[in-house]
Amino acid sequence: MKKAFQRKCMACNTKKDKYDLIRIVRNPNGEILIDKLGNLDGRGAYICNNIDCLEKVIKTNRIGRVLKSNIDKKIYEDIRGVIIDNGEKNQNSKKSK
Ligand SMILES: [Zn+2]
Repeated sequence: MKKAFQRKCMACNTKKDKYDLIRIVRNPNGEILIDKLGNLDGRGAYICNNIDCLEKVIKTNRIGRVLKSNIDKKIYEDIRGVIIDNGEKNQNSKKSK
């Protein structure tokens, strides 16, 4: 069986299956987006699906450095939303709601 693509989290440098990571992309127009479907063009950076890693990249401005771009604070809130969303989905995976 083939292994799925592995990518490194830019906060903790752990290699993970890319489907377990959140991809952040700077698209050709210079916009910073969360690539929820994994199919956006542009320079990408990966982060674990957890708040600790998010806090780490906020403190160090790691996303800005990796993507060579100024990061609007709003994107951090968006990423936080995605992480929380995913957490709830996992917890509720056996419930219908
Ligand atoms: Zn991480």
